[in-house]
Amino acid sequence: MLLFKKSADLGNYLERLRQEGLAIGFVPTMGALHQGHISLVEQSREESGITVCSIFVNPTQFNDSKDFEKYPSTIEADIDKLEAAGCDVLFLPSVSEIYPDGTALAAHYNLGYLETILEGKFRPGHFQGVCQVVERLLQIVKPHFLFLGQKDYQQCMVIKKLIALTGLPVHTIVCPTLRESDGLAMSSRNMRLNPGERAKAVKISETLSFIRSSIRPGYLPDLKERCRQYLTAEGFKVDYVEIADAETLEPQEYWDGHQPLVALVAAFLNEVRLIDNHPLHP
Ligand code: AMP
Repeated sequence: MLLFKKSADLGNYLERLRQEGLAIGFVPTMGALHQGHISLVEQSREESGITVCSIFVNPTQFNDSKDFEKYPSTIEADIDKLEAAGCDVLFLPSVSEIYPDGTALAAHYNLGYLETILEGKFRPGHFQGVCQVVERLLQIVKPHFLFLGQKDYQQCMVIKKLIALTGLPVHTIVCPTLRESDGLAMSSRNMRLNPGERAKAVKISETLSFIRSSIRPGYLPDLKERCRQYLTAEGFKVDYVEIADAETLEPQEYWDGHQPLVALVAAFLNEVRLIDNHPLHP
């Protein structure tokens, strides 16, 4: 695996491969890699001639400075995992490499209502930062395929919107959420949980499974409220338990029994904020 720290060097290297006709697959990450990230690398290797992974903890997408400071970093282990997975290129840029003109937002991305609901509502500015870094990375890597995890359901929609707004010629491929054996969605933030919190964290995916098995056509607020109360009683500080349209992510109050939905949860266990979702296909 080749490691690049400078965007110009990476850009030149990839340009040569592009001219040889190789399809470039790209997996952007913030590191502290787990099998969920690696599954994206594996998917990219199946679909692309060359797989590029980036590790960059993007300061502009953290609305909470403590969360940024405490974001786990395991770079040596990450490199080993990427190498074992057959990743071809790792891009490991510094903040000044990604933001040569500083981290102030240069552009405003018109994300519409997507930015006013769920993660957009509870993490103000988060998706602007995500768009800022993803646009910059896409301009450097110029991939044919971009691999994203469904674990970050709303982020996938935001990035698709960014690609539509900018007209960047990249095809997004959304990959399924990888889970621990008890159902907890894999996440870099899970490393911050102590053993008691880790045991409790599974209740988020259990709640989503409960929604999937107990949802019936009709009004939904009671079900959402019951789940919120359950998680709160278990010691979570709940940002939201929501049931939304699977395509638009608009929160739903009523289900006709046919509309594809997705259930989403965001909740803190002490200082660690966890998110997860389950698509609910009728
Ligand atoms: P992150 O490092 O958290 O920014 O995630 C980098 C990419 O990995 C994003 O596209 C995430 O959606 C994806 N990802 C994170 N966790 C998982 C998981 N458990 N399963 C599949 N993909 C994931």
